[in-house]
Amino acid sequence: MPKTKYKRVLLKLSGETFLGERKFGIDPKFTQWLAKEIGKAIKTGSQISIVVGGGNIFRGTSAAEHGLERTVGDYIGMLATIMNSLALQAALEKEKIQARVLTSIEVKDVAEPYIRRRAIRHLEKGRVVIFAGGSGAPYFTTDTTAAQRALEIAADIILKGTKVDGVYDKDPHKHDDAKKLESLSLKEALTNKHIEVLDNSALSLCMDHKIPILVFNLHTEGNIVKAVSGEKVGTLIS
Ligand code: UDP
Repeated sequence: MPKTKYKRVLLKLSGETFLGERKFGIDPKFTQWLAKEIGKAIKTGSQISIVVGGGNIFRGTSAAEHGLERTVGDYIGMLATIMNSLALQAALEKEKIQARVLTSIEVKDVAEPYIRRRAIRHLEKGRVVIFAGGSGAPYFTTDTTAAQRALEIAADIILKGTKVDGVYDKDPHKHDDAKKLESLSLKEALTNKHIEVLDNSALSLCMDHKIPILVFNLHTEGNIVKAVSGEKVGTLIS
């Protein structure tokens, strides 16, 4: 088993990853597969925290386009992230991995409230910590939450699991000659309009506080282990 390079990581998963083979909602087959992959990564000795999105269920911006008040839409979106988090926690527990969901909006019958020191304590005890409910405030995203929580818990890196194997110099779907980048700077990621890794507020936070981001294909078996152990995978933005 490879040894960890990053002692404490924050894995950002968009809600869309939870779709698995579905068009809406949560695919339990996918969450179970993911739980197994996370289990392998824990064995390297890495402390794993996760920020989960909610786009597979609800997005405040698109609901606002259809006439729903934006803040209400955003709260529904935040609640959607809690649903995803509970599904992931259940999948992890099925694999005998201890996991705690910490929410920024109190739903104390189903999860603990987010308390920074408590999150760190769980991580030190080897439990997976899932940060749910986004930042708890409308007009933000789970990308921003990922950057903020990573800073709060002093994570060594943000691991951004995606459907592609890294960052390209141009859109690989539109250009045959698009090249995958091994690495790039946070400033480049922020200024190059073609590069969409995390949203700009999240990238700014990462740049101001010098936290690296690894963009990698989440759906390839063994990639989370590679990411935490510093093996060559994806694109490193630092
Ligand atoms: N959201 C919010 N504040 C936050 C995080 C999320 O209002 O701090 C809402 C927002 O409406 C967003 C939805 O929750 O559209 C789902 O989050 P996000 O779009 O970031 O999920 P992802 O794109 O990662 O699936």
